[in-house]
Amino acid sequence: MSKYFPVIGLEVHCQLATQTKMFCGCEVEVNTSPNKHVCPICLGMPGAMPVPNKKAVEYAIRLGLALNCEIDLNAMWTRKNYFYPDLPKGYQITQTGGLPVYDHPICKKGSLEVTLPDGSIKIVGITRIHMEEDAGKLVHDLSPEGSHFDANRCGTPLCEIVTEPDIRSPEEAVLVLQKIKQILEYTGVSNANMENGNMRCDGNISLRTSEDAPFGIRAEIKNLNSFNNLEKALNAEILLQTITLDAGREVEQCTKRFDTNNNKTIVIRSKEDAHDYRYFPEPDMLRLVTASEFVEKIRKTLPELPDARRKRFVENYGITPYDAHVLTIDRDVSVWFDTAAKVCKNPKILANWINSELLREVKELEDGLAGVKIKPEHLAALVNLIEDNTISGKIAKQVFAEMFATGKSPENIIEEKGLVQITDTGAVEAIVREVVLANEGQFLEFKAGKAALKGFFVGQVMKKSGGKASPGLVNQILDKMAAE
Ligand SMILES: [Zn+2]
Repeated sequence: MSKYFPVIGLEVHCQLATQTKMFCGCEVEVNTSPNKHVCPICLGMPGAMPVPNKKAVEYAIRLGLALNCEIDLNAMWTRKNYFYPDLPKGYQITQTGGLPVYDHPICKKGSLEVTLPDGSIKIVGITRIHMEEDAGKLVHDLSPEGSHFDANRCGTPLCEIVTEPDIRSPEEAVLVLQKIKQILEYTGVSNANMENGNMRCDGNISLRTSEDAPFGIRAEIKNLNSFNNLEKALNAEILLQTITLDAGREVEQCTKRFDTNNNKTIVIRSKEDAHDYRYFPEPDMLRLVTASEFVEKIRKTLPELPDARRKRFVENYGITPYDAHVLTIDRDVSVWFDTAAKVCKNPKILANWINSELLREVKELEDGLAGVKIKPEHLAALVNLIEDNTISGKIAKQVFAEMFATGKSPENIIEEKGLVQITDTGAVEAIVREVVLANEGQFLEFKAGKAALKGFFVGQVMKKSGGKASPGLVNQILDKMAAE
């Protein structure tokens, strides 16, 4: 454990799920032939005039409202000037600019909640959310002609979410990023798939000597593309800064990348400041004036967000806060549970089945929950069949495996395989008597008070009945016979 206290802030870039680009009508399509979707606007040709995409603005506002932000009805576009071979325009249109006079992002002063491992709630401030356009892509495929340039991504819409430096550990940073991903998915603003690059995260981190000391000098680690890498990179940087400070040296303000192979952060640029980018107001566009009615219309269509859904699951279905947390991490899983729980006699048991059996199997599937053949109503029916004693819990596992493989209803499987539980007292008693006769010695010991033998007899009866005898009934009959 480091003797220093980390201070962490995140910058999360996410691709907005619009049909077209930020300032032109070109389609946004991934995994297509290179340079298929380009025009003079997204290539920045002379005289081309950008026009903001209304859907992208709507999505940015929707995200801002979901993160409790104030919406700036008079936001400003600025130009960030720099050279890079993936940027034919030589600048990016954004909503940031260093100087307060240029700094009018569409959303600011928001917050989000995370539940810490000890169950307490932590509020993390959102400094701002601004819109910008993405650059193109360089493809380094080692072909003899050298690297290639693909402009399909030029001008696709992004939102950048910047948190306050309120985060105090790499574990907390992961929780914050998870919450942002959840909100992006629930609001439908972005596909938020980190593996596909829909979402990437930069982490700013500095150390200080006590919890109320001034902030130290920070390093910024760019382009972290998984929760795991975010946590590892922050831990690696804490170690590095600890060594530096312990040696009496100063941490250097810099931009870094994370080398996953060596678990190290590596400097890619030394100190850079906003003024290096020569920001100025975008001359081709007016201020982004938004009607308050437009904002209110978006507010009314906000879906149920993860925190609210988690609370509703606890209140309406009586499941534990932990189960509700697990069930709401992924929006699709939460919808699946909700659909099933509405027709289930025991949502608590249903939650167990989803969190243990179903989600374990889902992990093995290539397309996750989408690849599951079981219908939510069918899993609810399975739980109902256990509840009304039609089948035992043990048989239910067998039925579940069959449902998972075939997508058939539990009723069909039980009928086909003759798995209905034997609840007829006479029939179960006959099996119990057979087992007792075959094990008379043990039964006498059981009768004399060796209670541990009960499990043996229940096991034997279940085996003999092919798992179909009602365990409750077997127990009752054994108790009765022991007392005779
Ligand atoms: Zn275009």
